Amino acid sequence: MKLYLATSNLHKIEELKKMLSEAGLNREVHTAEALGGMPEVIEDKDTFSGNALKKARALAALLPSDGLALADDSGICIEAFDGAPGVRSARYAGEDATDESNLDKLIREMESIPDGQRRGAFVCHLAAVLPGGDEVVFEGEVRGSILRERKGVNGFGYDPVFLPEGRNRTTAEMSQDEKTTISHRGIATRKFIAWLKEGDS
Ligand code: IMP
Repeated sequence: MKLYLATSNLHKIEELKKMLSEAGLNREVHTAEALGGMPEVIEDKDTFSGNALKKARALAALLPSDGLALADDSGICIEAFDGAPGVRSARYAGEDATDESNLDKLIREMESIPDGQRRGAFVCHLAAVLPGGDEVVFEGEVRGSILRERKGVNGFGYDPVFLPEGRNRTTAEMSQDEKTTISHRGIATRKFIAWLKEGDS
């Protein structure tokens, strides 16, 4: 079974390949590019699973019969905002938002939230559509708190203000490998890999 990822993000592809090989699994990993590009999918669902499944289904429709389609959707959920921005994390500051403008907005909107109530979580739902059409979703979450100012330059998105529970450095102060050991995407991906291994045995 070949794996196809609904992303053109090279970083996500390399991360998956590395985790598969560390788990002793030899799988071919391709992206939608190998099939002429990812069809346009409007991420308009109000759940991470909904958007991840929508992308995985669109990719699955293009795959050879031994292909498994994988797609993820992720974001940051702030407790004091009832889980917002959530599925809208990438567009929090508007349709033309950048990581910087999204982060500026989060820092601004959280100014009045007292220390001790600044809890949030990164959430990732990774959807798989199997050859034959069965669907499985793997979930990962990392809880933490939101700082008032940026710390660290690694990672992307909201990493510079995200302090994972029990840690004294933000995810932007961690190396990629260290972040993967605790991150929402790392957790969801490890669940997927465990599931793949189970199917192999
Ligand atoms: P995507 O689903 O991976 O494209 O992520 C959607 C948005 O969620 C990104 O644009 C970021 O704003 C935010 N996000 C998701 N994962 C992370 C992370 O690991 N660190 C920081 N921000 C993230």
